Amino acid sequence: MRSRIAHTFFLFFYAIPFMLSLYINYSHASAAPMPQPTDEPVTVIEISDPTATPTTPTATPVSTPSPQPAPTPTVTPSPSPEQEQPAVLKDSLVTVKVFDRTDNRVIELTMHDYIIRCVAGEMPATFPMEALKAQAVAARTFTARHMTSSCSSNSKAHVCTYHGCCQAYVSPERMQKNWGSNYAERLEKITRAVEETDGLVMTYNGEPITVFYFSTSNGYTEACQDVFVKNLPYYTSVESPGEESAPNYYSYVKISNDEFISTVKNKLGITISGSIEQSIDLQRSAGGRVKYITICGTKIKGTQFRTALGLKSTDFRFTFYDDQILIEVYGYGHGVGMSQLGAKAMAEGGSVFSDILAHYYVNTNLCQIY
Ligand SMILES: [Zn+2]
Repeated sequence: MRSRIAHTFFLFFYAIPFMLSLYINYSHASAAPMPQPTDEPVTVIEISDPTATPTTPTATPVSTPSPQPAPTPTVTPSPSPEQEQPAVLKDSLVTVKVFDRTDNRVIELTMHDYIIRCVAGEMPATFPMEALKAQAVAARTFTARHMTSSCSSNSKAHVCTYHGCCQAYVSPERMQKNWGSNYAERLEKITRAVEETDGLVMTYNGEPITVFYFSTSNGYTEACQDVFVKNLPYYTSVESPGEESAPNYYSYVKISNDEFISTVKNKLGITISGSIEQSIDLQRSAGGRVKYITICGTKIKGTQFRTALGLKSTDFRFTFYDDQILIEVYGYGHGVGMSQLGAKAMAEGGSVFSDILAHYYVNTNLCQIY
């Protein structure tokens, strides 16, 4: 009798609850949804352009009949770079009017295609991906700012294809010619740099910034007002190391005394009399470039002298010999904003594109423009 009571007690208080808990646990487990492709998170982007067709179907929330507590989150493998792309590229929904200077007509391109052609012209495709991405954001920011105005050489276009006016540009035909058998691989790399920064621009006070960038620094960049008339607060002189072995880091010009005197006379309107060495005085900027040069009492900007002598940058130094002058030059370009070779050096050192941009464009924000 005692054993039957004990058995009944055991059944009611231990065995049955235990079996019930097993059943409940099992039924919970089976309520967890099986991972299906449709359960993947999908970025849904609102498309303002009614003519645009999404490349993938719009996702609708999947309702899982799960009356039980929320299922344990399932760990899914990291998506591949292709899967990380948004369903619709925002750059592909914006039209840029480009004045093609080679055949003198305005063409319409998506921002996506224009930025690819611009990056292909501005930076070698062999540069590290993060440098290419920084270049893509800089090019998009330049373009975004011009979308509210126009190219100064054609009021019907936002930008033109001349780097001296707007930004460099390479047509697909020219890319094929330039890259030969590397065409597909390099185009894919640049396209990835553009798509992985889709819609991103640099802003200051909520507006896209005025973008400057250049080839190679002398170790420092320049404050904007030391080169151009404008003073833009996000262009201060910053260090730009790692470019010493770049092809354009160092260059020189040898010029005879007579030729120097005639060039200065013809291109700058300054007459040198007496010792050339004694008649020249240099005033340098924080970035080490020549801000002003005074020749025989006439003060001109370093940029004017650079143009007149055809020098690669305004960081030039003179060595005077008996009958000739050696002008040594460091860096290539105006020195304001991102150094493209500096971006390469930073990327090779492990910096990502946002680090590179934050370094050269001080106190700016990275924002989605659309
Ligand atoms: Zn232009």
